[in-house]
Amino acid sequence: MKRVIYPGTFDPVTYGHIDIVKRAVDLFDEVFITVAINPSKKPLFTTKERVEMLRESLKEFKDKVIIDSFDGLLVEHAKLVGAKAIVRGLRQISDFEFEFQMALMNRKLSGDITTIFLMPHERYTYLNSTVIRNLASLKADVSSFVPPNVQEALMKKFK
Ligand code: ADP
Repeated sequence: MKRVIYPGTFDPVTYGHIDIVKRAVDLFDEVFITVAINPSKKPLFTTKERVEMLRESLKEFKDKVIIDSFDGLLVEHAKLVGAKAIVRGLRQISDFEFEFQMALMNRKLSGDITTIFLMPHERYTYLNSTVIRNLASLKADVSSFVPPNVQEALMKKFK
């Protein structure tokens, strides 16, 4: 059973994240999507809301996708759920420096967990959750970037 873990803030989940999940689902038996509980980042959505939005957005993959949250060291959580690899999305060169540093640090912490990078469709390479939160706060239409349930949740937050 090849199990991988896809960690992130997902504040909120976008079609870019979903693109990465679909690619991971094609390659592996089980994908654990894990929401980082990081209060210092002051997320717009609570951990529970982010988990629920991911569940609703990915319900068609429910047989292969497990969604949870974690607090603490990612490599420890990966070991706990039995993941052999960490999946991350690479959008452009600007992601590279941070991702490279984190992947090497995680390898230092735990040599038997490999980080794998997947590239989304070009149409999502300029998309991130911060842009979506900003657009939604200005009442812009974000329907091409996030699933309908996320759009609704954003509208409620900024009404
Ligand atoms: P962000 O605020 O950048 O969306 P996340 O912590 O939610 O941050 O991202 C989790 C993972 O998903 C990271 O590996 C990030 O590079 C990746 N990711 C985020 N947005 C996209 C996207 N549009 N396309 C591909 N990967 C993405």
